[in-house]
Amino acid sequence: MSSSTYLMWFRSDLRVSDNTALYEACSTGQIIAVYLLFPEQWQQHDDSPNKVKFQLAQISNLQQALNKLNIPLLIKKLNHFNEAADFLISTAKQYQCRGLFFNEEYGVNEINRDRQVHQSFHQAQLTCQSFTDQLLFTPGTIKNQSGNFYKVFSQFKRKLYEKLAGINRLPLPTPVKQKSLNIKLVQDNLDIDFCNKAITKLFDHWPIGEATAQQRLQQFINHKVVDYQENRDFPAQPATSQLSPYLTAGMISIRQCLHAARSANQGEFASGNPGITCWINELIWREFYKHILVGFPQVSKHQPFLAETQLIPWSHDSDLLKAWQQGKTGFPIVDAAMRQLVATGWMHNRLRMIVAMFLTKDLMLDWRLGEKFFMQHLIDGDLAANNGGWQWSASTGTDAAPYFRIFNPTSQSKRFDPQGQFIKAFVPELQPIPAKYIHQPQAYLQQNQLHQTYPEPIVDHSLAREQVLTAFKQLKEVK
Ligand code: FAD
Repeated sequence: MSSSTYLMWFRSDLRVSDNTALYEACSTGQIIAVYLLFPEQWQQHDDSPNKVKFQLAQISNLQQALNKLNIPLLIKKLNHFNEAADFLISTAKQYQCRGLFFNEEYGVNEINRDRQVHQSFHQAQLTCQSFTDQLLFTPGTIKNQSGNFYKVFSQFKRKLYEKLAGINRLPLPTPVKQKSLNIKLVQDNLDIDFCNKAITKLFDHWPIGEATAQQRLQQFINHKVVDYQENRDFPAQPATSQLSPYLTAGMISIRQCLHAARSANQGEFASGNPGITCWINELIWREFYKHILVGFPQVSKHQPFLAETQLIPWSHDSDLLKAWQQGKTGFPIVDAAMRQLVATGWMHNRLRMIVAMFLTKDLMLDWRLGEKFFMQHLIDGDLAANNGGWQWSASTGTDAAPYFRIFNPTSQSKRFDPQGQFIKAFVPELQPIPAKYIHQPQAYLQQNQLHQTYPEPIVDHSLAREQVLTAFKQLKEVK
């Protein structure tokens, strides 16, 4: 073994192009790649079988890409995060490696695990280098004048744009092929029962691979991004990039996305084509919520960002929760959205907001119940974005929707799915309904003796609205 061999630990960065740690590692010496699986953590973290299956399938894909670079991949199953440090040290010693490279992750457990890894390598007098790769900027480097993390998105974005103005970093290339190390590594099996619970057509909806992710990005930039601002809220149109699963798994990088968008916009990010700037704005929301996760670790523990909202008497009614989960609330847009989630592992952003608002403000159910169900199904489940979206909707979060801004699910339905195309795609029992009745179909169903096919609304929106407003107002009085 060469004296300058290093371990490269892949995590949520499952690609070879524009992978900061991989690129740096390959520029430093010969590489052995490692991927660690923690099946027990999936249940604890409510990771969805869809997301896990998608990512494990990508491991095999990544392995092929690494083979072409002569980089061997070691796959190991461990029980717990705190076993990572010992395993990595013993592997480094076994193969006479000088150290370890990896890209940073931002959940509290991940940060603690990585701190332990750094310490162990330091104690063993081996190098350990970690990199900002998932984000444009390291959390903690975008702060206000008092040195604190921003809590308001627009202020965070302004500061981030100031920093971005000086930089237009090109995505890094795939490293060059290394000399063969001539070692055979033992692989743990990737066939895991947990993945059997994933939806059957997972890869029809979500084909894996770095190349697929790049094609999606290019298609979106070439054909859709300029109309993104106008069309992005209409779930019947495939007007958004649908890149979230690929970004979550790291099959594509944030810099590749930003670079493609900027190139299509003459290098600009804050001005120019409104569709492109709007899309970049969404990429920055992703960045914002990850900075929040690091700046305010209570968020990782599912505590409300606004501590006073602990006192909201959220309900845990299991029948209401079940109706929402199964898409049987009697509100067609909510039901179609929930069925899209369960059937495809993904949900359109406008619908995520509608169903989250409905769960918290119409049903007054605890937002954590919705957050958990989303994580258990989403292929793009991401602690920071999911928690951020849920707390925004529940008005418990940073820069959240003000408590009195409550979506009316029927008005949202009329506005964003006017012909009921989306509803009909996911709620087949409503297919015979004419568009003008689709948003509140019960009277039509009754008249046509079809009322047994679809439920009555499980809640009166106006009454529920008053109740939740009262609960939030009482909170203000206590304060
Ligand atoms: P596009 O509209 O094409 O946007 C491009 C990328 O920007 C997305 O892929 C995503 O990475 C990022 N992005 C867009 N909107 C947001 C946002 N509001 N917050 C953070 N990042 C954003 N996104 C996740 O990736 N994982 C989640 O678990 C998740 N849970 C959510 C839960 C709720 C209640 C809400 C309201 C939103 C949630 N989002 C989540 C954000 C958003 O809905 C998805 O990122 C988006 O629908 C993905 O579709 P797309 O790739 O076509 O997005």
